[in-house]
Amino acid sequence: PLLPPRRPIRELPDELISQIAAGEVVERPASVVRELVDNALDAGASQITVRLLAGGVRLISVEDDGSGILPDELPIALKRHATSKIGSLADLESVGTMGFRGEALAAINSIADCAILSRASGQNHAYLLEGQTGELKPVARAVGTTVEVKELFFSTPARRKFLKTDATELAHCVEAVRRHALARPDVGFAIWHEGKLVEQWRRCGAPDSLPALEQRLADVLGSDFVEQSVWVDYASSAQADYAPRIKVWGRAGVPDAARSRADQQFCYVNGRFVRDKVVTHAARSAYEDVLHGHRQPVYALYITMDPTRVDVNVHPTKIEVRFRDSRDVHQAVRRAVDSALAAPRAGQAGGSEA
Ligand code: ADP
Ligand code: MG
Repeated sequence: PLLPPRRPIRELPDELISQIAAGEVVERPASVVRELVDNALDAGASQITVRLLAGGVRLISVEDDGSGILPDELPIALKRHATSKIGSLADLESVGTMGFRGEALAAINSIADCAILSRASGQNHAYLLEGQTGELKPVARAVGTTVEVKELFFSTPARRKFLKTDATELAHCVEAVRRHALARPDVGFAIWHEGKLVEQWRRCGAPDSLPALEQRLADVLGSDFVEQSVWVDYASSAQADYAPRIKVWGRAGVPDAARSRADQQFCYVNGRFVRDKVVTHAARSAYEDVLHGHRQPVYALYITMDPTRVDVNVHPTKIEVRFRDSRDVHQAVRRAVDSALAAPRAGQAGGSEA
């Protein structure tokens, strides 16, 4: 038989490994925005400002007032698999931060021109690190971090060709920030494009306060969403050790608010935006008697559960998760939405079976 010529096995250079990883994580400017906003939130930011040029292709800058990065750690932040968020398998299994793979900055730096400007809390100076040259110089800045990403995909023209118009890329970037904003009413967000303010969502209170969430939902999704939805507030039974408590809260749209597209279905697991078939199916099934045809319910559901019962390390973008007890999750979401829809419209929806 004709065998292919044997070629030597070689280790890939770091740069190429990062570029391959970038292929999984960075599909378009919005993917970079998502990663950088994740990082800002992990750093405890209370205000995050995103600035874009040309839909994010020419420039994505994300500025935060979080805890910052120490100057000698700046070059490490750009390395592959370098993270301050986990240090062991046990950490990974109960991870509470958005990031943990230590891949995003390295990947982005391999396919764009990156710079990080940061002043760590407790430090008197800020430093700027140029990703291309590795040069570190002191600059002026308040505590926090700004990451600038220029000319995305400049070195990978094949990817660049898949980009849509600036307006479309901008819309995806805005959507990426919107997803974060819906989970964090305690953080202010602003998005600028070509020097113009596109969206601004002000801080509205503690992360777990109902009025703050309601305000944020109204700001981001419109007052219609809030007026045409009911509170969901549910906790599964806590009696049995083997069935850990799952909490589901948020708002579910009344049947009349349903849309032809599933573009207002937001689901969070322990604060992370996810797309999950179990949750989508459970939520849809709560509407099965009241929604016909292909009408899509609207909702923003926040699920909290023991972090060791959900695996977030399934997909490089972490948009997919795997539940250890997916039937319990299905049941909790279904019951949560069921009881919310059954409750009198004006009142507080309820239903905890503790
Ligand atoms: P990960 O978020 O998975 O740890 P990243 O490549 O996104 O990996 O970031 C690497 C590290 O750089 C983070 O673990 C964090 O210590 C630091 N870092 C990145 N962005 C920021 C930021 N905005 N503020 C503070 N530290 C940051
Ligand atoms: Mg990260």
